[in-house]
Amino acid sequence: IFDVSKPWLNRVIERREKAFLTAISDVSFEVEDKSVYALVGESGSGKSTVGKIIVGLLSPSEGNVEIDGVNLATEADRHEVERVRADVQMIFQDPYASLNPRWRVRDIVNEPMAARGGDTNGLAERLLEQVGLSAGDADKFPHEFSGGQRQRICIARALASRPRVIVCDEPTSALDVSVQAQVLNLMSDLREELGLTYVFISHDLTVVQHMADRIGVLYLGRLVEEAPRDTLFASPKHPYTQMLFDAAPRMDGFGREVDPPKGEIPDPINPPSGCAFHPRCPLAEQRCKQERPEMRQLGDTRVACHLAE
Ligand code: SF4
Ligand code: MG
Repeated sequence: IFDVSKPWLNRVIERREKAFLTAISDVSFEVEDKSVYALVGESGSGKSTVGKIIVGLLSPSEGNVEIDGVNLATEADRHEVERVRADVQMIFQDPYASLNPRWRVRDIVNEPMAARGGDTNGLAERLLEQVGLSAGDADKFPHEFSGGQRQRICIARALASRPRVIVCDEPTSALDVSVQAQVLNLMSDLREELGLTYVFISHDLTVVQHMADRIGVLYLGRLVEEAPRDTLFASPKHPYTQMLFDAAPRMDGFGREVDPPKGEIPDPINPPSGCAFHPRCPLAEQRCKQERPEMRQLGDTRVACHLAE
C-alpha cells in the first residue's frame, strides 16, 4: 500500500496511533466478495484499528485476517502473502496528510504499481481520468488541489495496483458537505465498474446508508451488532445502535433538531465491567454491570445485549 518505511508517512501513522490506540477484541466478521461492509462507531471504537489490521499496517496480538482462503497470520509462502496484500488497499480520512507534498501527483499515483515493479507508463493519467480529474493533473503537486480533488488522487493511488478490496477509513468526513456526496458517488461508480469490495469505516450511519450491504457496529473495541443494511435500519436491536440513529442529525415533526445523545465515551483501554455500554445505556439492569453479553443470533441480526429480542 503506502510504503510505511517512508518517514513522513510513519510520522502520520504514529501521530494517529497515539490518539486512537484502542484495544479491540471479539471483533469477527466476514465480508462477501464485491459487497460493501460498513464498520460504524464513534471515535475510540476501534474501527480504524480494525481497518489497519485488515491492510496489514498493524498486526493483531491474537486473531487473523483471511482473504480468499489465505490466512495472513499463518501463511508461510511470502509471495502468496504479498500477492494477497496487493489486493487490499486503504484510503484514509485525511487526504491532506496522506499525500506527500513534495511529490508530483504522477509519482504519488504510480507509487503502489512502481513498488511492485509493474508498468506505470500512462497509468497515473488513466487513473486520474477515471476518478474525474484530468490527465494533465499528473504534473501538479497536491497543494494545487481542493480537499475533494485530493481525495480523488488518493482513490486513484489506491486503484493503481488493481486491488480487489479497498478499506475506506472515513473517506469523506474531512471534506465539505457539498463535496462528500460527489466522492461517495464516485466510489459507488468505481465499485460497480471494477467489481471492488469495500470495507467502509464511518462514524455516521447516514453516510453508509446508501452504500453498505452489511453493517457492523463497534463499541469500545467490540462488535455489538451486525446485520444486513435494511434489517439494521428497519429494526436496530442494540441500544447503542439505536443511540447512533438518534445522534444522526434529524428533525422532529415540527422541524426542530432532535437532541444529540448523552453520555461520555469511556476510556477504551479500561472499559466498564459487564456490558461496556452500561453506563450510557437507558435500559441497563443490575446484571449488565456484571455479565458481558455474548453475541447472539436473532433472525439475520447478530447482537450482544442481554435484553435484545
Ligand atoms: Fe444495555 Fe444491558 Fe443491553 Fe448492555 S446488555 S446494551 S447495558 S441492556
Ligand atoms: Mg478513525
